Amino acid sequence: MVESIYTIPLTEALDSRCDCMFCYLEDKLEREQIEYALGAAMMEPDFRILSNEKGYCRHHIGMMARAKKALPLALVLDTHCAEVIKKLESVDMTSKGGIFKKEKSPAEKLSEVVSGIDSTCLVCERIEKTMEKFTNTFWYLYNKEEDFRARFLESRGVCMHHFAKLLVALDNVSGGKRDIFARELYDLQMKVLQNEQNEVHGFTKQFDYRSDKGEWKVAKDAHLKCASRLSGSFERE
Ligand SMILES: [Zn+2]
Ligand SMILES: [Zn+2]
Repeated sequence: MVESIYTIPLTEALDSRCDCMFCYLEDKLEREQIEYALGAAMMEPDFRILSNEKGYCRHHIGMMARAKKALPLALVLDTHCAEVIKKLESVDMTSKGGIFKKEKSPAEKLSEVVSGIDSTCLVCERIEKTMEKFTNTFWYLYNKEEDFRARFLESRGVCMHHFAKLLVALDNVSGGKRDIFARELYDLQMKVLQNEQNEVHGFTKQFDYRSDKGEWKVAKDAHLKCASRLSGSFERE
């Protein structure tokens, strides 16, 4: 039984007629997670433990900083920073490790601990988990609901990042249908990519000294649209 908490947002995202329904879902999730981390989660001890342990990546700490909630952010950072210091203190920098081959040297242990601290982001992890549910539910709906499938095939497809994610999730679809669905997705993506490339090529031609600068024949943001098609949606200035 597929839960409606995933099917309803998917249908809504498709209805939005955006350039990538998964970027639309991910952007929404991201905003909700940032708001939660600096709001209601402050009162959730379980979340605080995870927040202190995992911290946030550069992209998400940037979003938190721009949210202009100075005190909640300072509270989050205060306890997370204490946890980082505790982890660093766990490395004995004076140990004579390395004499016996099995034991790691202080430099190796320190590198391992710091890489561990640097590689985790609570917001990224929570988004990834939910997005995996969305991509799996997407194929469930695509398989079961003819209308959903037809509407998707008439849509503007997805970005390359979510194209890759959809193909990975396609592994869960049984045998014969997998190749049919992959082919349909491939055809759609080729169509939108060719269109995007034509647009961005037309955009570069507008800068040709022979072209009539006054009359733009392509969208003025063709370069930005092509960028989000290839790399996923991003915040524009
Ligand atoms: Zn996307
Ligand atoms: Zn992150």
